[in-house]
Amino acid sequence: MPVKQASGFGCSIRKLAFTSLSLPRAEIQINPIALDSGYRRPRRNGVQFHVLNFCDSKLPRSLKSQLESHCRIGYLPRSMESEVKRVSNSVYGVIGPEGATNFAILKANDGGAVLIDADIRRIDEVEEALKLTGCAKVSYLVNTHEHFHHTSANFYFSQRGVPIVGSAGCIGAMEADGESDFACMLKPMPELYDRFSGLRLTLPDVVFADATKLTLPGVTLHLKYCAERGHSHSKGDTTIYFEEEEVLIAGDLLYTEVHPVTFFGNIPNWLTSIKPLFETHYKQLVPGHGPAVEGEKQGRAYFKKMYDYLEDFHGNLLEIKSGRKSADEVAAHMMSGAYSVLGKTRMVQRNINQFLTGKRY
Ligand SMILES: [Zn+2]
Ligand SMILES: [Zn+2]
Repeated sequence: MPVKQASGFGCSIRKLAFTSLSLPRAEIQINPIALDSGYRRPRRNGVQFHVLNFCDSKLPRSLKSQLESHCRIGYLPRSMESEVKRVSNSVYGVIGPEGATNFAILKANDGGAVLIDADIRRIDEVEEALKLTGCAKVSYLVNTHEHFHHTSANFYFSQRGVPIVGSAGCIGAMEADGESDFACMLKPMPELYDRFSGLRLTLPDVVFADATKLTLPGVTLHLKYCAERGHSHSKGDTTIYFEEEEVLIAGDLLYTEVHPVTFFGNIPNWLTSIKPLFETHYKQLVPGHGPAVEGEKQGRAYFKKMYDYLEDFHGNLLEIKSGRKSADEVAAHMMSGAYSVLGKTRMVQRNINQFLTGKRY
């Protein structure tokens, strides 16, 4: 891996990290994309920091202060930061921390990017990832489905002339519920309305019904509408397959390592949508939330886990409805055994509450 001598730094990062301080390699994790790019991220106090993801909890205090005194390196708790993961040669996953929404960047040979999903609350991360990955521009923004976390930056990119692609199901759902969801989700962050003048729900302007193909130099993308009878995880569920590098982007049909959000969905239909994905071909797999997955074998295991989770959860919801189980019993069950390792545990109660009340929030 080539290491650039970043200007303003007393020595090369590699020398400092691995030679001068004789740190065991395993104790520091450096984001190789950040290291290669030499890109520096402005911080609030005006000091610029190189973006490196250190496992700072593993760094002895004395070494931390040595690092700080030698050069201006920002070491950030990993859990607070998205990870820009190179999934394949031209695909980068912006993997959200603690199961937050994943975005993906597919870089074409002309330097243009197809951006898959973006959240206005995390627009700085998205812009940073586009810079880190050396993308000259965003050629298309694709929405995997209508949910706010995946579509709320449509306004931002639309203002910059970027065509936004979404399924007719996605657009229909945004037309029906989008305005109220948008207002509700932004309520805790009114400052975003000041920062982005005119910020509002923005629908995709390139629409397809069942399937379509997007092509850029070196990139052929197959978009497939997968919401069973118009409603699975969402009403717009779309998968994206990058033909040249055999990467499948599953949107929120798949969550890995975290509890899913089911309260917008139709679980029986969602199960039907997942089944064909057991047999789909890919080399790399990016879920809507949670870590990316390498290889079909592991991918199938994750799809199966997702299927079994949803089937079990749905059966238990019906037990609550019939009075055979209490909501507390079901919540405890969904956080026990194999499920006890899953993150975003708050979703369990929210999913149950929504089922019982029928309210979206
Ligand atoms: Zn999501
Ligand atoms: Zn979703």
